Amino acid sequence: MTSRPARQVWEAALGELQVQVSKPNYQTWFEKSLGLSYQGNQFVIGVPNTFIAEYLDRNQRSLIEKTLIGITGRDVNVVFHVDTNHQNSFNGGDVRGKTSLASTLRFNSKYTFDSFIVGDCNRFAHNAALEVAQNPGHSYNPLFICGGVGLGKTHLLHAIAHLALANNIKVLYVSAEQFTNEFIIAVRDRKTEEFRNKYRTVNLLLVDDIHFISGKEQTQESFFHTFNELHNSNHQIAVTSDCPPKSMPLLEDRLRSRLEWGLVVNIQPPDFQTRLDIVQAKSQQQGMQIPLKTMELIAQRGQRNIRELEGYINRVAAFAKLTRALPTPELALQSLQDIASKVPQNAAITPTVVMEIVAQSFQLTLENLKSRRRKETTLARQVAMYLIRQETNCSLAQIGQELGGREPITVSSACKTIADNVNSDPGLRQRILNIQQKLYAK
Ligand code: ADP
Ligand code: MG
Repeated sequence: MTSRPARQVWEAALGELQVQVSKPNYQTWFEKSLGLSYQGNQFVIGVPNTFIAEYLDRNQRSLIEKTLIGITGRDVNVVFHVDTNHQNSFNGGDVRGKTSLASTLRFNSKYTFDSFIVGDCNRFAHNAALEVAQNPGHSYNPLFICGGVGLGKTHLLHAIAHLALANNIKVLYVSAEQFTNEFIIAVRDRKTEEFRNKYRTVNLLLVDDIHFISGKEQTQESFFHTFNELHNSNHQIAVTSDCPPKSMPLLEDRLRSRLEWGLVVNIQPPDFQTRLDIVQAKSQQQGMQIPLKTMELIAQRGQRNIRELEGYINRVAAFAKLTRALPTPELALQSLQDIASKVPQNAAITPTVVMEIVAQSFQLTLENLKSRRRKETTLARQVAMYLIRQETNCSLAQIGQELGGREPITVSSACKTIADNVNSDPGLRQRILNIQQKLYAK
């Protein structure tokens, strides 16, 4: 085991660190690092500059060492080495092949509509984003995308930017935090005119994580005026947030009502099928051949959000490479073992768990839910069928069996009915969302 190449060990560690630290943190400090050498206890990590080396050394050393010890099973002493050449070798041709546009505008070149997997949980948001990118100022204005962390909000915003740019539309993408900082600096340096011009002369303004301006009165005021000017000239605004405008605390009412003018779309946690599609797509992108059973296992585990799911895929991939083994379900189980222990024990969603929560939601007993006779429980049963289909990998026949011995065709049409109605019936959507949240919280 001593000769495991540093590079692969570090890739495995990165897979793990990605799930342990926040995304901005990961991107800023870890993403461009590389395992350089591993001899005796000394593990040398290459980083692009001194700033990063110092930061990691001071703040992340113990986490990194713990992670490496977990992987190598030996004591590890980490050394950071500034290596200006390593970025190219790490990223391969990827970086050099891209146009400079993406990097200067700081859009992630991977966040496009093409790489965005559409499922029931995000179809609405995806379609609205596409519409806005193709027809800015003439569709929903503003477009307000909300949802929990790691569900693809930033990805969609960047996708809008890429598409609009390709159509020569003047786009500005900014995080609400950046907007706030720039505003503060502009006021301090008496450059508010410049600030105004920058933001009010674009055709499409994309503001990520708008909830950041909650409670910041002056920034809200500035955003309010920016909003009005753009909106009055039919220029498009799209924002993301971790909650809908109505639940944003400390937001001025006039701004709240502006944000509700257009379309508010919600991204929900991904269902099983979407997670499976994502695992499939991402492993293909990495050029990995993963058997279906393994992909299902990963999709079962990474239930909370897509960022977590990506971390799991990377981890399994790195472990397979590291041990030169095939990514079998056993290997996946093994490599996700200690992460999985941080997830609540009964994280695997079974038909019974789904049925129990659905029954609770409709105030029925489990027997009533399964009963063959009761007509008034049809909706509850359809919801149960739909959710079991979404959240587990049971076949239609198995689901029919679970719910009082019904035919696969009945299950199939129930799933379709709910899938159709979930987009047009907000009450039903909310109910399903609540049930899913309970499932994931289990
Ligand atoms: P958020 O901004 O909602 O916190 P991100 O947009 O940063 O989430 O998404 C987290 C990660 O998951 C990103 O790497 C993103 O590419 C990926 N991701 C999210 N949704 C999808 C999707 N539907 N298809 C493919 N990848 C996705
Ligand atoms: Mg985001």
